[in-house]
Amino acid sequence: MSGEQDWNKKSVKILSRKGGNTKCADCGETDPQWASYTLGVFVCVTCCGIHRNISEISKVKSLTMAKWDEEQIQFLDQHGNDAAKAKYEAHVPIHYYRPTHTDCHVLREQWIRAKYERKQFMKNEGADGSPDSKETGVKEGTLFKRGRDNGQYLARKFVLTELDGTLKYFIKSDAKEPKAVIKIDSINATFQPEKMKHNHGLQITYVKDNKARNLFVYHNDGQEIVSWFNAIRAAQFHYMKVAFPTANDKEILSRLPRNFLKEGYMEKTGPKPTDAFKKRWFTLDHRRLMYYKDPLDAFAKGEVFLGSTEHGYQVKAEIVPNSYSNIWNYGISISTPDRTYLFTCESEQDRENWLSVFKKVISIPMTVREFAVEAQFKHRS
Ligand code: ZN
Repeated sequence: MSGEQDWNKKSVKILSRKGGNTKCADCGETDPQWASYTLGVFVCVTCCGIHRNISEISKVKSLTMAKWDEEQIQFLDQHGNDAAKAKYEAHVPIHYYRPTHTDCHVLREQWIRAKYERKQFMKNEGADGSPDSKETGVKEGTLFKRGRDNGQYLARKFVLTELDGTLKYFIKSDAKEPKAVIKIDSINATFQPEKMKHNHGLQITYVKDNKARNLFVYHNDGQEIVSWFNAIRAAQFHYMKVAFPTANDKEILSRLPRNFLKEGYMEKTGPKPTDAFKKRWFTLDHRRLMYYKDPLDAFAKGEVFLGSTEHGYQVKAEIVPNSYSNIWNYGISISTPDRTYLFTCESEQDRENWLSVFKKVISIPMTVREFAVEAQFKHRS
């Protein structure tokens, strides 16, 4: 390596430690090892892979392995992550979801394309995932929805209406009566590429009569499914602003779609000592622990509300001897004011993971709204 190249590499390295350059410009991952010398940003290896898909506007190189010439270094120096953020993220709507390094590919890719390719956030308005028309606050379109009983995905018309705070879907595109009317403020939406075995798979979980239900949908176009996801967030945000006029933006944002805290299999037994253990798929959405026979079931078989330690909830590791019908032995007990639930995990590590999220949830004091949800659970059982 020539002395000049050596010096150039050092300069790039020094630049990568300046200000916002220490975190990936697109997902926030620390210590990015790649840079785009046409956009002037430092990015992580995963986001770099996405930049390669938009090579007409972004040319990427490794900080350590590639050759850097003088002009490219100068360009990076004059731009950098902070300046790029100010330019390309100038008008990101408050409700728009900014993916992190743990988010799935479609969310990250569409974020990067929205920023640099469509330059969606450089202007003050545009296709930001808000409902199609600002005046009517309505988004309408076709999504493939998984059939409840046969598991087949079929085209369904979906209509999101901000004004009355609902998401509806119709079996036929010209049908007058919707098959379901979903209250927008009860929705959580999460991308589930692995579970649904589709890169654009979106799970819409909502609560009806205090029971969790799921719709599994996708659209073949990544931009469209992410647009639906952000439209749901936009509609929820605007709806809650009106419904809870005293709540601040931060509180409202915390209630918009969030990733589940944890999902996976455990075994569960009933309230009687003679009840059999059954393997179930568990989903923890903040204080709501739902369990299913199959990960893609439309309805939860049951739900456990996780309150707080101060209000009589306890989580403990338990040894469960293999004398019942359990196959797994790594037990967890959750005590609520009404009942103790017993679960078993496949491995020690898995139990540790579940225990740590359960403990974290019950360590947080309950809000007024959560007391109301707890009361509904009590009323139900
Ligand atoms: Zn990244």
